[in-house]
Amino acid sequence: MLIVPERLIADLVTAEAAYEAVEAVFAAMARGDARNFPVVREALGHADALYGFKSGFDRAGLALGLKSGGYWPGNMAKGLTNHQSTVVLFDPDTGQPSALVGGNLLTALRTAAASAVAIKRLARKDAKVLGMIGAGHQATFQLRAAAKAHPFERMVGWNLHPEMLPKLAAVADEIGLPFEAVTLVQLGQQADVIITITSSFAPILKRAQVRPGTHLSCMGTDTVGKQEVESGLVAAAKLFTDEVAQSITLGECQHAITEDLINEAVITPIGAVINGDHQGRSSDDEITLFDGTGVGLQDLVVAAMAVERAKAAGVALEFEI
Ligand code: NAD
Repeated sequence: MLIVPERLIADLVTAEAAYEAVEAVFAAMARGDARNFPVVREALGHADALYGFKSGFDRAGLALGLKSGGYWPGNMAKGLTNHQSTVVLFDPDTGQPSALVGGNLLTALRTAAASAVAIKRLARKDAKVLGMIGAGHQATFQLRAAAKAHPFERMVGWNLHPEMLPKLAAVADEIGLPFEAVTLVQLGQQADVIITITSSFAPILKRAQVRPGTHLSCMGTDTVGKQEVESGLVAAAKLFTDEVAQSITLGECQHAITEDLINEAVITPIGAVINGDHQGRSSDDEITLFDGTGVGLQDLVVAAMAVERAKAAGVALEFEI
């Protein structure tokens, strides 16, 4: 069995490589070549933590395994990442464990890649202004990946805790995007593409604040009860997701479903757009919304890539189990 420690990941998997892997597995999911298994995610009743497992099998790329981990909100104060993730891969022919891979940076990269894939596929080609709601650990990754996927001219940002915005502004500055901190109303008026990446449990962005033609990548809602945008906004949008089963149960669409504003038939897997089976955006006026719930297969394909690259570079650690 191989170990690819967290400290090696940054040298092995780039944002571009994660984008390719995530786009390919979304396409495989839509073709029926890869599937995710039901998610386990539980509040521990300890350290305010959410803990769980995401697993699946990519028959096309032969990646089988699981990501275990979750969200420990007190970690930041200890100098640790709030998200803690480890991926275990198995040999799909024998069931034997094949690799243990540090999953923290990979989670950030694969999550950023998902919203970037959606932006590339669904945003208007003339989109100029990127709006970001959220300024935590994940927001800077979303920003970097979005800027690689589309040639934005500037960005606007809002966060419940405004003192966190300078970190986001510094990354915008580094990649050459002029940044302005704005109100939510201004953000909706100015942004052509909006990424939401918060841990909110109540709607932040309202239907009335979003202009026709906007694309939203809603990435923060990955648990029952979380919510970033008003359910009326979800109902008004053309809906896409990584996986419908997760979108309606633990993703941003869960609330519009329970309120009977939409049914699951109106939500399209983004893989169908990648495969050319769905046209995606069909006019410059419609609002498109990608519900990025985060699927286990995203984790498995980037972890498998890290293992292959670590083997090739001779840096994977070997041990017996
Ligand atoms: P973080 O703790 O570093 O940042 C949290 C962000 O949410 C900050 O911007 C904070 O100001 C904001 N926030 C906190 N409470 C809020 C509230 N009540 N209302 C509005 N904003 C609030 O977390 P992170 O690592 O940046 O992750 C952000 C979210 O993304 C989390 O909910 C996490 O579970 C989710 N996430 C989703 C995926 C996925 O695949 N969809 C992957 C990773 C993280």
